Amino acid sequence: MPTKKVSHKSHKSEPKKSLVKKSSKASKGKKSKSPMPEGYAYCLRCKAQTKMLSMKTKLTKNHRTLMYGPGECGHEVFRLK
Ligand SMILES: [Zn+2]
Repeated sequence: MPTKKVSHKSHKSEPKKSLVKKSSKASKGKKSKSPMPEGYAYCLRCKAQTKMLSMKTKLTKNHRTLMYGPGECGHEVFRLK
């Protein structure tokens, strides 16, 4: 006869502090697509739009057209079409 030990579990259910705050991301309307005029590119150094003095196009590996050339600010600027 198996002696089953009746375990007297103490059901002490303490209310766990569940501080799982759902960090609701401030849903900003993604309107960061600045309308860049034709011939302009974003200079990463100036962090501003710069007019491209001359433009060359190059096809990237992702089959995207990369435009690059010297910008008016004196830096080489890139722009993905
Ligand atoms: Zn620049």
